[in-house]
Amino acid sequence: MEGSIVLFGPPGAGKGTQAGRISELTGKPQVSTGDMLREAVSRGTDLGHEAKSFMEAGLLVPDSIIIGLISERLKNDDAAEGVLFDGFPRTIPQAEALAEIVSVEAVISIEVPDDSIVERIVGRRMDPETGEIYHIRFKPPPEEVSMRVVQRKDDTEETVRSRLAAYHEQTAPLAEWYSTKGLLIRIDGNGSIDEVGNSIASKL
Ligand code: AMP
Repeated sequence: MEGSIVLFGPPGAGKGTQAGRISELTGKPQVSTGDMLREAVSRGTDLGHEAKSFMEAGLLVPDSIIIGLISERLKNDDAAEGVLFDGFPRTIPQAEALAEIVSVEAVISIEVPDDSIVERIVGRRMDPETGEIYHIRFKPPPEEVSMRVVQRKDDTEETVRSRLAAYHEQTAPLAEWYSTKGLLIRIDGNGSIDEVGNSIASKL
């Protein structure tokens, strides 16, 4: 498939978990604005300082910052044949800016109801050595890894509620926006990791 693919869905839908597999399948590099921002925060760059308070409050980082970050990232050679966006765009202005710079071929919307999101996010853990994402119940880390897994600072119940509110107000309207363009592919995000992965693969 030519062009870029967007992975769309609420926080905790499994975008990051599925991204690795789709990236392998399509050969397109994963571009996660959340990962890029977390890296900037941990490196203490100007961008990191600007973004940190929004992220910790569960609010979206301003569009101008995100669009600047993406424009820079897309100058890399590896983006020439399209990328896999994970967690971007999250607002209509971001999607409009994106449409000016790349062609989006498909938007995969991973759909999960609100009431399962809190449990999915609060139990989420990451292996800082490999970046692999686990869940204390749904995908427990192997014993040798379980000692070193970490929880994202914004994966607390309180912050999840703000992130969900931001999703419904600012991001969810994008589904309609992409749907009218004929690009939206709806996927039921409620199955196992493999089931959801297979159903995405069958649509690409
Ligand atoms: P994520 O890892 O995608 O859940 O993103 C973590 C946090 O980074 C979000 O709650 C936002 O504060 C910020 N963020 C990531 N991507 C974007 C984006 N495209 N637009 C605005 N804020 C973002």
